[in-house]
Amino acid sequence: MSSLLPVIPRETLDTSVLQTWQRCPRKAYLQYWLNRSPGGKNYSIGFGIMYHTFREELEKMWQDADTDDLNLAAGFCRAAIEIASDEWEDPPVENSKAFLTKQRFIQSALQGFEAWVAEKRNKVFNVLEVEQGFQLPLPSGRIFGGRFDQILEWNGQLWVRDFKTTSRMGKSYPKMFDPNDQMTCYTWAASQLSGRPVKGVIIQVIYNTKNTGPEHHQFISTRSESQIEEWQQNVEREATIIDQHTEEGYFPMRTTGCNDFNGCFYRECCGMSSWKMRDAWLESHTVESHWDFMNPDEEKGIVD
Ligand code: SF4
Repeated sequence: MSSLLPVIPRETLDTSVLQTWQRCPRKAYLQYWLNRSPGGKNYSIGFGIMYHTFREELEKMWQDADTDDLNLAAGFCRAAIEIASDEWEDPPVENSKAFLTKQRFIQSALQGFEAWVAEKRNKVFNVLEVEQGFQLPLPSGRIFGGRFDQILEWNGQLWVRDFKTTSRMGKSYPKMFDPNDQMTCYTWAASQLSGRPVKGVIIQVIYNTKNTGPEHHQFISTRSESQIEEWQQNVEREATIIDQHTEEGYFPMRTTGCNDFNGCFYRECCGMSSWKMRDAWLESHTVESHWDFMNPDEEKGIVD
């Protein structure tokens, strides 16, 4: 027995779906097959999207201008900030992310811009692709998709660059990228798309808390061919299991995930004793939100 709410089959697997599945298949079912998400606004994700949009617009304006004149760049920066933050509404003061204001975003963008100017002046990185979506076949023919922020050349070698915004930072922060399926996937995809070896991912992190930031930090996470092969094997096996469960229409609860992120949002729903009750809960406590990794900005509601 499962939900009577409409299910949209997922044709393509991606890292967000896979990671949620690995935490709890039931949660993946609720979010990515039934397409239900908590309503409300996630200011952390919104702030991250704003910063990504800023970097994307800035880079595209620079590339379109096809110039080396960095005197023009301040105007591009102002325009990119305007485009990215146009619709931003600051969080209410009682919100735990109240510090993620438009003013804090502008400070973050200006700091990022300083680093960007230094990169261009010193010709450190040659950015080849910006906001590149991909849907690529694994060895079995299964399609795996995603989207990365940049592909660039550094010292003659190819890298992916990923921008992250966070309010958590510590000595152990860089360790979270190694091992990390998302970074391995990016390395694999960039290599497939370019037909060249890719060294790994340069991760640029923008750190903000109530009392700290903005701060920019940069980390490097390399991948070998054997690590990429292992990732492919892992994904293929997981995908086979997902296919079996999808065919059977049964998505087991993995209750070790119930306390993730200060408690899974769906706990009340999962604690109910019938799907009739759960469907009613989902309809009253969530919004319909279709996840599409090619257009992540379109998603509604809060997804962790
Ligand atoms: S409450 Fe627990 S079982 Fe239910 S979706 Fe969340 S993690 Fe899975």
